[in-house]
Amino acid sequence: MTAHKVILLVLDGVSDRPCPELGGKTPLQTARTPVLDRIAREGICGIMDTIGPGIRPGSDTAHLALLGYPPEQYYTGRGPLEAEGTGIHMKPGMIGFRCNYATVDADGKVTDRRAGRIHDTDALSKAVQEQVDLSRFGVEFVFRSGAGHRAALALSGEGLGQCVSSNDPKKEGVVPPEFDALRDRPGDEKTAFVLNEFVAQATRVLSNHPVNQERLAQGLPPANVVLIRGGGEMGHFEPFKERYGLSGSVICAASLISGIGKVVGLRHVPVPGTTGSINSDLDAKVAATIRELQEQDFVLVNIKGADEAGHDGHAGEKSAFIERIDAAIAPLAEVPDCLLVVCADHSTPCTIKDHSADPVPVVIRGDGVRVDRVSHFDEYAVAEGGLHRIHGCDLMSIIEDLINKAHKYGA
Ligand code: ZN
Ligand code: ZN
Repeated sequence: MTAHKVILLVLDGVSDRPCPELGGKTPLQTARTPVLDRIAREGICGIMDTIGPGIRPGSDTAHLALLGYPPEQYYTGRGPLEAEGTGIHMKPGMIGFRCNYATVDADGKVTDRRAGRIHDTDALSKAVQEQVDLSRFGVEFVFRSGAGHRAALALSGEGLGQCVSSNDPKKEGVVPPEFDALRDRPGDEKTAFVLNEFVAQATRVLSNHPVNQERLAQGLPPANVVLIRGGGEMGHFEPFKERYGLSGSVICAASLISGIGKVVGLRHVPVPGTTGSINSDLDAKVAATIRELQEQDFVLVNIKGADEAGHDGHAGEKSAFIERIDAAIAPLAEVPDCLLVVCADHSTPCTIKDHSADPVPVVIRGDGVRVDRVSHFDEYAVAEGGLHRIHGCDLMSIIEDLINKAHKYGA
């Protein structure tokens, strides 16, 4: 017997390093995870360098690797992927950027890089789209809200370059720097000039917007400036369906991940109530996954909250969220005829509050899969398993083999 369907469940940033506040254990070790443990017990386990040993992955490059698209060949920056994720259709020649709504004070200094983690910015983005005018530079743009304080911008027009600096000062208390060309090329200079104009006009539109007047009246930081970074042109991706012969969907709250899914041709399934944070409606995500599998061969599900807790350095919170994940994913372990793959895209250790290159746990469980002796899903236990240490880019090949879709190499 071989499974025909595949669930790739990515627990974003779930793995960690020893945490002093957990007595030297990791959040995965301290969390009670009967479902993940059962999957580990019934499957084959290992650890995985999503990109390569010692390479700290971004969520974007890691997910490309997990889907079998080597980032060194396919990655053209986060901006175009994020733009796709917000619903902008990136055509060849368009330059995409990822953006944050942020707050500046009367002196123009950044006081909150996330504008109080504002959400529901659609009205603001719509006003920017309607009122900012770049036509005298021969440039058109699309500006769309993403999840939370995030947004994306895509520029199109003659002679635009993509190598420009960012206006994100990366810290508070300073004025956002102007954009600059990173190469001595007219295209990059034009893009930098256009972005400076965009930000100046957008700031005027946003400062006067009723949503921000209302926020000021409530003592909340207004979203009165757009910080822009990660510019890049969309590359060409061989469609997932052609590459693997599998139809597929992606379920995630983060627009970056849905953007990656979309560019490789996965259907993005929006799920109401999912936020990409620890308050996300995980049950709704799991139900949507099971629904999609009735039609699709492959579903990529990303659950983001553990990464956020890692970035915040809250080991206890991370461990508690892992227990919520564990309870929510129980129905995925019951799907018949299905290869269930659980892994992380990278580690997000609470001690460094960022991604690290520590290899991530991975387990594959389904009909016909060899079973090893691992009985607990954590960084240490899975390292004893039968998969040993694999590369992220090899995961899809292993999956194809296990569902009998792989072709023989040789006679
Ligand atoms: Zn991630
Ligand atoms: Zn992260």
